[in-house]
Amino acid sequence: MPIDQSEAVILRTQNFAEQDKLVIFFSREKGLVRGIAKGARKFNNRFGSSLEPLSIVRIFYYEKERHDLVTVSNCDLLESAFEMFSDRRTACFLSYLAELTEKFSPYRAGEEKLYRLLVSLIRAARVGQKVEYLVRYFEYWFLKVNGILPDFQTCQKCQRRISSTAWLEPRKDGVLCDRCAGEKKIELNPRLARAVDWIKKNPPQTPPGPEIEAEDWKKLGRVFQSIIIFHLEERPRTLDLLDF
Ligand SMILES: [Zn+2]
Repeated sequence: MPIDQSEAVILRTQNFAEQDKLVIFFSREKGLVRGIAKGARKFNNRFGSSLEPLSIVRIFYYEKERHDLVTVSNCDLLESAFEMFSDRRTACFLSYLAELTEKFSPYRAGEEKLYRLLVSLIRAARVGQKVEYLVRYFEYWFLKVNGILPDFQTCQKCQRRISSTAWLEPRKDGVLCDRCAGEKKIELNPRLARAVDWIKKNPPQTPPGPEIEAEDWKKLGRVFQSIIIFHLEERPRTLDLLDF
């Protein structure tokens, strides 16, 4: 059987059968893949710590015809995320990243942009970038890559350019200007627009400017998360752990 190999991010594992593990990973070439790592629960197994969540790895696997699960034959650890999990907030951020990537990604649809986003965020967290910023950075680009980020600059109803406070449309797929909005529940004010602009123009490891306050990042989270929940049709489990 031909063996595939790819750089990948391990999203999570769970116990499978007596001695194996089910591995869910996001690979550079094929996106979301699920596989079985045989013997991964045995003492001193060949996988070592390479299957820990959010590890960046080179993974080797082969596919069986008409089988959803691939067989993972080997996995080399390139960058461990293990130590980051000792910080509660970083652990929450990384778990949120993994859950959304798994839930939103169609099975085996390659999405290299998303792969690069995941890797850059894991690296930025490792060098100590603030997670309250990284989480917004992730949400913005995640919505964008998945094609569900509303146009924040144009009113969905009157098509006028938005220059002051706007409101997320109740169906969460657009933004309405102050005149057109009926239900004014989730606000998008110019301060938040500035934060979005910052995210668009900077790599994740750049420290955000002091002009954007902690409260703005939080409010922006409410906007992004409403859109995420609307499209996912459920509340991500890890969202309840995020207090930033
Ligand atoms: Zn309008």
